Amino acid sequence: MTHQHTHAAGRRTGTTPSRHGGRPAADVRPLVPPRRGPGGRRLLAALLVVGLLASVLPWWWDTPAGSLKNSAATVTAAGRITGLVAGYLLLVQVLMMSRLRVLERWIGGEQIARWHRDVGATLLVAVLAHMSLILVGYADLEDNSVLAEAGVLLSDYEDMVSAFAAAAIMVLIGFTSMRAIRRALPYELWYHLHLASYVVLLLGFGHQFSNGAQLFRPGPVRTFWIAMYMLVVAALLWGRVVAPLLFNLRHRLRVADVVAESSDTISIYLTGDRLDRLEMLGGQFFRWRFLTPGCWWQSHPFSVSAAANGRWLRLTVKVVGSHTADLRDLDPGTRVWAAGPSGTFTAAHRVRERALLIAGGSGITPIRAMLEELPPGAALIYRASTPADVLLHRELDWLAQARHTSIWYVVGSRHDPGPREVMSPEGLRRLVPDVARRDVYLCGPPGLVEQSLRVLRQAGVPRRQIHLATFEL
Ligand SMILES: Cc1cc2nc3c(=O)[nH]c(=O)nc-3n(C[C@H](O)[C@H](O)[C@H](O)COP(=O)(O)OP(=O)(O)OC[C@H]3O[C@@H](n4cnc5c(N)ncnc54)[C@H](O)[C@@H]3O)c2cc1C
Repeated sequence: MTHQHTHAAGRRTGTTPSRHGGRPAADVRPLVPPRRGPGGRRLLAALLVVGLLASVLPWWWDTPAGSLKNSAATVTAAGRITGLVAGYLLLVQVLMMSRLRVLERWIGGEQIARWHRDVGATLLVAVLAHMSLILVGYADLEDNSVLAEAGVLLSDYEDMVSAFAAAAIMVLIGFTSMRAIRRALPYELWYHLHLASYVVLLLGFGHQFSNGAQLFRPGPVRTFWIAMYMLVVAALLWGRVVAPLLFNLRHRLRVADVVAESSDTISIYLTGDRLDRLEMLGGQFFRWRFLTPGCWWQSHPFSVSAAANGRWLRLTVKVVGSHTADLRDLDPGTRVWAAGPSGTFTAAHRVRERALLIAGGSGITPIRAMLEELPPGAALIYRASTPADVLLHRELDWLAQARHTSIWYVVGSRHDPGPREVMSPEGLRRLVPDVARRDVYLCGPPGLVEQSLRVLRQAGVPRRQIHLATFEL
């Protein structure tokens, strides 16, 4: 079934959260201007490459020409280089986890996730190469077996036990981050294992300075390396501790109400202090911690489902597991700890004037908020399996009129003729003839996102115009 509301056809239903202060401020909200292009990202990528070269340079200076005269010296040298590379990549990796907002603004959320994954895999390879090469090189130099040399390193060299422990934890993190294994693990277990990266930073620190040929002597190289560590730890403290603390002290969020949107979806309304000064964009998400005895120890990401209005915040949550089920019983007044806002799935990151939004199921939540901030003339395709799965439809119809937006509700199984027609390059072009010249915002289950990506590329939409929110971190 395909059912359309456009600004001409849609009725003004106007019944959006009336219990909490009326309909969205769609008609008065100033448009969010688009942000600058990818200049910041390129600059940062260039800085990171310069940092990598600067980390390896000390080895080059310290190694006179002709000193690699046998295979043991060459292998050991390769071990030292990979060690410097690994030490540097570990710092970059932790920096990516720092949640510094300026990084997200420069690089983009999607890109950070990609860099984090790629740097993580390279780091693991560099660490394993460093360990193997040093072991083989030292064993060769001292005429030992590799196993015996490992024993010597562990017993005779300072800080090596903690360095081995750091490597073991890193291998465990790498292993559990493989997609298939990660999916099989409970999220909280995977998350806490991943947090052990900070322990790796701590455990791996000492051996670089007690044994690292380029770092154990005081001097500019050692100072540079320590300064990089301090910078990364400061970024981590700011992004993970100080900034969230300031945010929560300023806004002191609490639950105002929990409202059923459908049999398995609720909206949680929050109030707080100084919400008129809350800097957030439609499409962004927070990591929420509801401070009840059963929930306080876990934080879960949910997007805001209405743009900032100075009076309340709202998240719309589909019940899929134990935590989301508990949220149905939240009492008004419950204190809430929020970390964010995060994400670059916003109107500010568009590169074209007009947008097409494609939502599936509860993927409508960030898109609903963003609709208030996009320029008029947007188009929304909302996929749902059954009419009961269509969420927030009265608000959407109201927005269709207020923001001059065309909305198509495409309801049914993906094998039904209606959805199949719409989710094809020709069908898409028929609905939105200028699709290739629009930004496309895509949020929904992985199957819909993959199918839509394929269809959009076939319809001629350049990749840089496609923005994704997959509800997966
Ligand atoms: C950026 C982002 C925005 C999101 N926005 C919304 C939204 O607006 N509305 C909505 O209904 N859902 C949203 N989600 C999904 C929501 O976070 C999960 O459905 C929820 O955390 C599931 O928790 P659970 O214990 O009830 O279910 P579980 O059965 O424990 O988990 C179901 C799946 O959710 C994911 N998940 C579980 N816990 C977490 C966690 N702490 N952090 C990240 N992912 C987790 C895992 O992939 C897991 O397989 C969003 C997810 C992300 C990453």
